[in-house]
Amino acid sequence: MVTHDLVQTDLWASSAAASATDIQIRSSRRARRLGMRVSRTGRIEVVAPVRTPRVLIDAFISQHRDWAIERSTQALAVAPPPEAFPPVAIAFHLDGSRWRVHLAGGSGEAALREPTPGVLQLSGTLDATATRAVLRRWLLRRARPVFEPLLQATAAEWSIDYRSMTVRCQRSRWGSCSSRGVINLNASLLFQRAAVVRYLMIHELTHIEHMNHSARFWRAVEARCPDWRKLDRELLQGWRSVPQWIYSK
Ligand SMILES: [Zn+2]
Repeated sequence: MVTHDLVQTDLWASSAAASATDIQIRSSRRARRLGMRVSRTGRIEVVAPVRTPRVLIDAFISQHRDWAIERSTQALAVAPPPEAFPPVAIAFHLDGSRWRVHLAGGSGEAALREPTPGVLQLSGTLDATATRAVLRRWLLRRARPVFEPLLQATAAEWSIDYRSMTVRCQRSRWGSCSSRGVINLNASLLFQRAAVVRYLMIHELTHIEHMNHSARFWRAVEARCPDWRKLDRELLQGWRSVPQWIYSK
């Protein structure tokens, strides 16, 4: 699977910002090579394939440490203030819709309704975990009818056939494309500008033709989206416009 894995903006929405020198090491079955990530809360993490010798990890850290600390310091300087939860409203940049959150109270299982357009009514026992769960489920449901026509139109524009579309809510990637032609999109794209989402869709659809990030792949992306560099950078910063509650535990 080719993923548009935005390594430098992994969203570990940990509220406690790590000190810049506190580098955590995580071993990952999925990782193919050593990588370093700085979260938007300034947390530094090294991801290592399982059984990577410690000496290689240490060498990797000393090579990238200055970069990571600089990034971490920058992230801490712009880290967003804590948000109210449940949110008072949810606004999607992509389609311009805005939803007021109304807490109806009551007991029993947490539930969510849309009594009128633009209103989300939450009822039942609304502890933080249950409230996040119903809001995330709603976000995934809400994303599909917004994404699908955009993806279809973009695919039609370049005569690219994809098999199907899935929507997930991942912490670290905006989209991916499987070798079977399944395009996966992150529900948090709802919080991004249409031009940025269109670039991401072009990027993933182009992977159907080039399952890699080769020079040919980037030439094809550039032909379809001359602005891709600027939009890719904007996407990298895009986690900042995603509400914290989506990824917090
Ligand atoms: Zn890619």
